[in-house]
Amino acid sequence: MAKRKLSTQQKRRVSDKRTKATLSELSPSLGNSLNDKSLLGPEQHGLVITSFGKRVLVESDSGQTFSCAIRQHLGKLVAGDEVIWQTDMEHNSGVVISVLPRSHELSRPGFRGQTRMVAANVDFIGVVTPVVPGIHPDMIDRYLVGAKQLDIPVVIIINKVDLIESDEHWEAIAEILAPYDEMDIPLIPASTISNEGLAELRSFMSHKNSVFVGPSGAGKSSLINALIPDLDIRVGQLSEASGLGKHTTTNSILYHLPESHSGSNDGGNLIDSPGIRQFSPMPCSLSELESMYPDFNDFLGTCRFNNCTHTNEPDCAIKKAVEDGEISFSRFQSFQRLREEFKESETNKG
Ligand code: GDP
Ligand code: ZN
Repeated sequence: MAKRKLSTQQKRRVSDKRTKATLSELSPSLGNSLNDKSLLGPEQHGLVITSFGKRVLVESDSGQTFSCAIRQHLGKLVAGDEVIWQTDMEHNSGVVISVLPRSHELSRPGFRGQTRMVAANVDFIGVVTPVVPGIHPDMIDRYLVGAKQLDIPVVIIINKVDLIESDEHWEAIAEILAPYDEMDIPLIPASTISNEGLAELRSFMSHKNSVFVGPSGAGKSSLINALIPDLDIRVGQLSEASGLGKHTTTNSILYHLPESHSGSNDGGNLIDSPGIRQFSPMPCSLSELESMYPDFNDFLGTCRFNNCTHTNEPDCAIKKAVEDGEISFSRFQSFQRLREEFKESETNKG
C-alpha cells in the first residue's frame, strides 16, 4: 500500500476542505453534473474513509476529503477501498468511477446467512483479550480461524495487564497462551493505564490497515483512544465533512494513526465499526477447518479413518496428540465447537 502521511499543512487543508464540503451540501443535487463530463476534474487516486447512504467520503492523496457519489455499477464501497475518482468542480464534491482490486475484504454475518462487507484491504488484525475477567482461548481461536480464512496476520493483545497482581496470575496467563506462542503468533501485553505495549502495537500497525476485534469490554475503544489521542475531534470533523450529524452512521470509519516523533513508525490506519467488532469465521468444511489449525498439521492424515471427525473414532491421531500433550486441550475443544457450529449451519442451509 502507498505510504500515507498527513502533514500539518495537509491537515489544515483537510479541515478547510471539510468546511467547503459542508457548504457544498447546500448546493443543488449532483445529479446533473454527473452527466456533464466537462465539469469533472482529472481522474485521481483516493482512499475511502467511510460510506454513508449512497455516498462515500474519499480522501485524495494530498489529504483532502470529498463527499463523492458512486457510479452505479460499482456496488457497495467501504472504508479502506482504494478508488479512482474525479472532482466535481462546481460542487466541491466528486464521483468515484472505479475501485482498485481489493486485497482483503472483512465481512460480518448479515441476514439469512448472507455476509456484509465492512472493510476492505485489511492487512492486520489485533485480537484484544483482557486478563480480567479472563482470557478465553475459545474466543481467541474463533478470531484466529476467521483471520486465517482471509490470510490476514494477527497479533494477540493481552489487555489490561495493569490488573495482574501476582506472579501466579502471570503464570496462569502464560499457560493459556502457550499454544499461540508455539504457533509464533505475536503476543503483546498492553494497558491503557500503564501504557505498556502501546509503542510495540504502533510499530506493528505502521504502514498497514488494521482492525481490532474482541469481546465487548475487552478495552478496544480505550486502546483506539490511546492510539489516536484526538479521536473525538476527528469523528466530529468526519461527520461534518460527510454532512451527517454526529453518531448518525454505524458504518466503518478509517482513521490515520499519528506518526511517531522518531520517524520510525509511519502511522498506518485503523478501521473501526461495531460491525468489524462482530467479525467471525465463515462456516467451512471439516478439512478446511483442519487446515486453519496449524498445530494439528503434524497429525492430520494419520487417523484410521480419513474422514475422522476426531470425536469417537478409534485410532484417532488428533485425540492421541491431545492425550500426549502435543496439542493443547483448549485448541482441541475450540476446534470441536467450531466443527459442530459449522455442521449446524450446513444443515440449516440444506
Ligand atoms: P470495548 O468494549 O472493547 O471497547 O472496551 P472499553 O474500551 O469500553 O473498555 C471496557 C472497560 O475496561 C472500561 O471500563 C475501561 O475503562 C476499562 N479498561 C480499558 N482498558 C483498560 C486497561 O488497560 N486497564 C484497566 N484496568 N481497565 C481498562
Ligand atoms: Zn481423528
